[in-house]
Amino acid sequence: MNDSTALALRRLSHVYVGDKGASLAVEGIDLAVAKGEFVSLVGPSGCGKTTLLSLLAGLFPPTTGEVWLGGERVFGPSPKVGYMLQQDYLFPWRTIRDNAAVGLEIQGTKSKETMKKVDGWLEELGLGGSGYRYPHELSGGMRQRVALARTLVTEPEVLLLDEPFSALDLHIKMQLEELVVETLGKLGKTAVLVTHDLSEAAAMSDRVIVLGRNPGHIRKEIAIPEPIRSTDPIEARKLPGFQTLFEELWAELDAVDEGKGGESHA
Ligand code: ADP
Ligand code: MG
Repeated sequence: MNDSTALALRRLSHVYVGDKGASLAVEGIDLAVAKGEFVSLVGPSGCGKTTLLSLLAGLFPPTTGEVWLGGERVFGPSPKVGYMLQQDYLFPWRTIRDNAAVGLEIQGTKSKETMKKVDGWLEELGLGGSGYRYPHELSGGMRQRVALARTLVTEPEVLLLDEPFSALDLHIKMQLEELVVETLGKLGKTAVLVTHDLSEAAAMSDRVIVLGRNPGHIRKEIAIPEPIRSTDPIEARKLPGFQTLFEELWAELDAVDEGKGGESHA
């Protein structure tokens, strides 16, 4: 692992042990993500995407192999990692400001000073007038922006995004993709996104990792070519090379299904 590596998985395998015995979820994963890089994980349901994000977040240790964050082995959750999920998990009884401040409370750093940062992020993410409203008064897209503010306020170095846009309407989803890429890009943050939307993966990322299943493994890495990579997600979809890239990803996922008997790409 060198100085420019933000996170890495080394010879990593994970077995879940439950009532019905042990099942090998992912096997032999080697992955390094550079500082400031945006990487997407795509693959069929059950191929281990959420497992990999949980291991990166230090939520539980891998059965074998290593997780690295910056120059340090991961043995548990770290404030350097922020997590954003499909569900926003906002507390209904708290205002938007107080929801966005949850991470600060957990860290024990909530103060007048840090609440200014909360308000700054709400403003930056287009929620300036909504700080004293409650979650039920907000649309799905606005709620996810609150979840993003809550994540960014604690200043993580790495963001892990597990299908954060998949419950949203298409045009809201695309606006949010744009906002996330722009915001993380400006801050130089490292991000790993799990998505079942190939177009989203291609439009947002520097690199797309295609996973196969039974057990989960890295099947292919596709570097997103210029200029798609440096163009914002909505415009990137209109570029001449985009369709070809999409088809390449599609063919990889089809090959996963043909190999193991058809299932959906969810
Ligand atoms: P994905 O996010 O790609 O859909 P997951 O990481 O959720 O995949 O799951 C990978 C495999 O591990 C699947 O076979 C799933 O059934 C299994 N699995 C996930 N979580 C658990 C768990 N807590 N206990 C047992 N098996 C699990
Ligand atoms: Mg999942």
